[in-house]
Amino acid sequence: MPQLMITCPRKHRPLPTNHMLKAEDFAAADLGDNRIGPCPHCGEAHAWTKADAYFAGDAPKPPPPGRPEEDRR
Ligand SMILES: [Zn+2]
Repeated sequence: MPQLMITCPRKHRPLPTNHMLKAEDFAAADLGDNRIGPCPHCGEAHAWTKADAYFAGDAPKPPPPGRPEEDRR
């Protein structure tokens, strides 16, 4: 089962999430709001949603826009 990835909004590096999902289940998956961290690239926690996620091996998606409340940390 492929792993879902996001892109670190600080370092623009791929970041594996703890979600594994079959590709055919992605469209119907309800992933809600998630947090991942500490990020191995920048050490911060990142909020992400399904819109930010892509499968390992696919072309990376642009990172989620930095959320102001996180940027102030
Ligand atoms: Zn990061």
